[in-house]
Amino acid sequence: MNIEKIKKSIRNVPDFPKKGIQFKDITTALKEPEVLQEMVNLLYEHYKDKGITKVVGIESRGFIIGSILAYKLGAGFVMLRKPGKLPADKFKIEYELEYGTDSLEIHKDAISENDVLLLHDDLLATGGSANASLQLLRKFGNNPVYLSFLIELTELNGTSKLSGLEEIYSLVKY
Ligand code: AMP
Repeated sequence: MNIEKIKKSIRNVPDFPKKGIQFKDITTALKEPEVLQEMVNLLYEHYKDKGITKVVGIESRGFIIGSILAYKLGAGFVMLRKPGKLPADKFKIEYELEYGTDSLEIHKDAISENDVLLLHDDLLATGGSANASLQLLRKFGNNPVYLSFLIELTELNGTSKLSGLEEIYSLVKY
């Protein structure tokens, strides 16, 4: 199994959810046992010696691989959720998407001073949601933050929006 095989298993859906968007559908990758295992294993190998104490997943596709990765790394898992879902005291931020706007929330007691964080989402497009997520994490202090994606759409140059990170790592690039 190599990156090309993972890439081939991701379905491209033109004009979804609106005209002009090339939607990268990971359902076709996730349903293949070997591809799922390989994606998790590659990320695990990359992060196993970095002292990650919490994986932070962005709702909702960041929860899938993010939580498996947290389990494998022996780290905790924290959810960045869409508004109105988290029940206790929280921080909130609004941000722009490749298509539309959205908000994210995190519980105020989700992160501790000594945590080393791995922020994870399925895909980096414009970098709007990753940047907003990072701003939320900065409300807790200056924890080291690693950032990972299954997919990066390089021509949108999302990484240029992101700073102050330990590292950005994407498994598959288009
Ligand atoms: P952005 O904030 O522009 O980097 O967009 C990233 C978020 O939007 C991720 O959570 C993705 O799930 C979703 N997204 C944006 N563009 C696409 C795309 N072309 N295919 C699949 N998901 C996308």
